[in-house]
Amino acid sequence: ATRARLLASRGPGRTADGHAVPLMSNIGSAADPVGEEGVGLFRTEFLFLDRRTAPSLEEQEAAYAAVFSRGGKVVVRTLDAGTDKPLPFLGLAEEENPALGIRGLRVDRVLPQVLDTQLDAIVRAAAAHPSAEVWVMAPMVTTWQEAAAFASRARERGVTRAGVMIEVPAAALMARELLEHVDFLSIGTNDLSQYTFAADRQHARLADLLDPWQPALLRLVGACARAGLEAGKPVGVCGEAAGDPRLAPVLVGLGVTSLSMSATSVPAVRESLAGVTLDQCRAAADGVLSDQLLVPQPADLLGPDAAGR
Ligand code: PEP
Ligand code: MG
Repeated sequence: ATRARLLASRGPGRTADGHAVPLMSNIGSAADPVGEEGVGLFRTEFLFLDRRTAPSLEEQEAAYAAVFSRGGKVVVRTLDAGTDKPLPFLGLAEEENPALGIRGLRVDRVLPQVLDTQLDAIVRAAAAHPSAEVWVMAPMVTTWQEAAAFASRARERGVTRAGVMIEVPAAALMARELLEHVDFLSIGTNDLSQYTFAADRQHARLADLLDPWQPALLRLVGACARAGLEAGKPVGVCGEAAGDPRLAPVLVGLGVTSLSMSATSVPAVRESLAGVTLDQCRAAADGVLSDQLLVPQPADLLGPDAAGR
């Protein structure tokens, strides 16, 4: 066990029988730590959270170049404005139901120039740093038409690998159709949980519904991964679930091809995967999908008073 631990402490992610699973890092700026297999989610909105005026093409280019200059793979996510991440410079109207309103790629419906400028800045920064392998994806995509429109806009402006996040159940259910238009999918389990379980992702009293072990969530993940295997295209997970060392083998067993998490979670996930074979991952995935009892129920969480009501 000690030897396995030592072997697992460095190097690329893989199972005990050598199935490769790149373990990438989620970052919000060039200051965040990155593991050896690159960046699987660059949340660009964190660069501009307190801006009152829109960042120029040149400012954005400089911010992206700071990340690309390290080289390696970087999956850039286009701006994801939302309830938890308001971007004042967009000047979006207040909404009664912001989690279900104009957020993520939907901002493009009212402010198309924002995405064009961002894509141009990403492409210019990538061209200046050829040692970086830059992929670009859009958040909060719901239909294959949105995915197709995003991918063709991105490719027209010079992006070589265009993908979308899966954060809405409608998109997960149509993963096969989405993959006809994009090069890859990345599953954001934080929002996919929120929208699948109709439970605000910040709501502490609904934590049991937002638990990434929920079989309904994992069935959607599995459906996306299968569509990816059929299409021969990568399907990663970049939500918080990817950094859970107990869940990582289950995600791999479902067919997910890479995991992206905070860099500090990488060693534990690497060690966890190194201790199991791909067949064991698949068996774990089958077990979790069929076993409802693994998920804590509200009665366990709320205490006897609430349970007795
Ligand atoms: C997610 O929703 O799982 C995700 C990775 O994006 P964010 O947490 O930035 O919404
Ligand atoms: Mg999200």
